[in-house]
Amino acid sequence: MEESVGKEKQPETKSPSDPEESLDIGKVGESMTPEELAEAKALGQRELFCELAGRVIDLIFLTAVALLLGRPDSWLMKWIAGDYPVTFQVALFMVLLLAGNMLISFPFSFYAGHVLQHRYQLSRQSFRKWFWRWGKRNLLEVAFAVVLIPGLYWLIWLCHDWWWLVAAAGFFLLSVILGQLAPVLILPIFYKVKPLDEGERTDEIKERLHRISAGTGIAVEGVFRMEMSAETSKANAMLAGLGKTRRILIGDTLLDHFTVDEIEVIFAHEIGHHVHRHIWKLICFGGLYSLVGFYVCNWVLGLWIELNGAAIDYANFPIYTLPLLLLVITLFSTSLEPLQNALSRHFERQADRYALKQTSFREAYQSAFRKLARQNKDDPSPNRLEVILFHSHPPIAERLALADS
Ligand SMILES: [Zn+2]
Repeated sequence: MEESVGKEKQPETKSPSDPEESLDIGKVGESMTPEELAEAKALGQRELFCELAGRVIDLIFLTAVALLLGRPDSWLMKWIAGDYPVTFQVALFMVLLLAGNMLISFPFSFYAGHVLQHRYQLSRQSFRKWFWRWGKRNLLEVAFAVVLIPGLYWLIWLCHDWWWLVAAAGFFLLSVILGQLAPVLILPIFYKVKPLDEGERTDEIKERLHRISAGTGIAVEGVFRMEMSAETSKANAMLAGLGKTRRILIGDTLLDHFTVDEIEVIFAHEIGHHVHRHIWKLICFGGLYSLVGFYVCNWVLGLWIELNGAAIDYANFPIYTLPLLLLVITLFSTSLEPLQNALSRHFERQADRYALKQTSFREAYQSAFRKLARQNKDDPSPNRLEVILFHSHPPIAERLALADS
């Protein structure tokens, strides 16, 4: 669970060239030139195309598998049903579905995550490194899925027609546990994270952070430097974790190239997320929406079983419903995404206002966002519909205007 300052929540696949080569510190705080703007817009459009194409392909894949293979008499179901325990059968089915999905979505992941990022000089990763990262992400997904999906079927078999209620409670609990563990267990798989103890300006930065975080419950010991520069030129910062693992992570790409005033403003933005309890609010919202989501799944899967000529028997709930379950979850979360993004953009504006109020650094706030736009090649004013549908952060132009209001 995390809240970040930039457009990307997880900058994992976005990487750049050497900041020394690609950044002119003198001009990064200024507005983009028409050429830079055109470049950012072109990159944004290509990324949007990949995003849309990837989603459409996912939906086609899941729909086809659900209709053609997710039935009691399909060859795949006959092949999976062997002498193994049913838990193993669900896990095997899930792994096959994920593998098929990864295979067909690979060209888009490769193009958007590697080719485009190099073409726009944002990545400094070799293909081998990119592929290793892609592999780690997918392995993690498989590891979660082979535990959670059989677990979900066990809930159906044991709790019968109340399974959706128990599953939503389980989802909430899992979000809290993962929120706590993610910064210490999952983030280090992808990024090297260390305490703020290196670099010439560290003392001044620490002193500023100490002052601005006084009374908020975040200690400077909870501020970490995240090594991003080995793979990307993009800058980012984020708030992550719950309770004892609550921390603010600042990318080295940001710490090394932004002024102390700008770092203080961005840090204050992350404190804004902490003070307004945004991570908890997002977890509660997620719990509520999983409740409705699992209820819808229960209803649709029941209809599918009846359509296949059987009565619903929760104690022996058939596992051929798995592709349909995944399809309903995907459709449900896609349709709620604009609402979730609107909430996230609202939280971002709250955190921006907090940063402006606490620091009074209007100019540093604006130059920090201009730098972010330039360094990350973010389109400052993308299409409104695109923002409503897909963006978790307000466009940079809007965030700049906030400082003038
Ligand atoms: Zn933020």
